[in-house]
Amino acid sequence: MYDYRDPRLSILNVAQKSGIVLIRQTSNEEFMARCPFCGDSEKNPKHGHLMLNIEKDAYHCTRCGEKGFAIGLYARLHGISNSQAFKELMNMAPETTPKIKIKKIHQSPVANINERDKTYRAFLDKLTLKGEHLQNLIRRGLSWEETGRNLYKSVPTAPQERLRICNELLQEGLNLKGIPGFFQVQKENQTYWDFYSDNGFFIPVKDIQGRIQGMQIRLDDDNVRKYVWFSSKGKLNGTPAHAWIGVHGVPAKTVLVTEGPLKADIAHYLSRYTFVSVAGVDAIKGIEQVLKELGAKRVFIAYDMDLKSNKNVQKAKDKLEKKLVQAGFEVHDKTWEERLGKGIDDYLLARKKSQKVV
Ligand SMILES: [Zn+2]
Repeated sequence: MYDYRDPRLSILNVAQKSGIVLIRQTSNEEFMARCPFCGDSEKNPKHGHLMLNIEKDAYHCTRCGEKGFAIGLYARLHGISNSQAFKELMNMAPETTPKIKIKKIHQSPVANINERDKTYRAFLDKLTLKGEHLQNLIRRGLSWEETGRNLYKSVPTAPQERLRICNELLQEGLNLKGIPGFFQVQKENQTYWDFYSDNGFFIPVKDIQGRIQGMQIRLDDDNVRKYVWFSSKGKLNGTPAHAWIGVHGVPAKTVLVTEGPLKADIAHYLSRYTFVSVAGVDAIKGIEQVLKELGAKRVFIAYDMDLKSNKNVQKAKDKLEKKLVQAGFEVHDKTWEERLGKGIDDYLLARKKSQKVV
């Protein structure tokens, strides 16, 4: 964002100058406060829904949806323009004694790949795949056997179940520290392990040896976003996920690169080509190493067709192409008619279906 941050323009200073009641720090980046827009829950004054992000100096109410940045928050609450708000804030000394002290929540460094693989496999072994998730995967073109091989499992969300699973893993001698997704909870005099959960299913992201590096979750409620990493960033003894590069298939001379591990799983299954997945078009760090290990000579970039008109995606693609050409690969663009499908998986599925009909 910006290199120099003026304390007068920080979200916490603005909140305190605007009479917003801070409740508590919820992560290394976030504070919870009472929302001045919707009045927040009337019954419980200890409840707050206004999240103040101190990294981005932004606010967002999870109850009424109001959001924006620090200067705008001050402007709105004082009924003035943003430029007037900026002037006023710059003319006042910042709060020197914050009413809430920012504490640093201890995070664990990421465990090595073998440990992660071991814990994730034992974890997934305890879970099941719900019928609706299985049907979703089969609709997208996977076989029932392939969903089993890929270890997709529904995310358990009930607190009691999560607690039981963590305790079982610990009793089995598995390590939860440094495993993205897992974190500790401190309540009163008790400390216990928990993991990040949201309704959806896990997509393990494997490396060239088939080891699980990390996992994504395909969310059931995909209004805002479809995928999140299984991560415990900002949680006590938690560990953030990396944007791991996935390997889908065996070493091969021709390899395709696409965005998203689930898409790559499906495209690999439908075509039997080897795929490498990136978590986002900008998350390409180390990709040339992965391709080299796979013995790739020819690389096809197969990003979604509807992304081709997006300038940022185009830029990211050019960057990837340049990087791969420099590393000595023969690089091609994999394209198809958009009416056959947006993603390479949709296209391959449409092709398979049309071949069946003929
Ligand atoms: Zn609100």
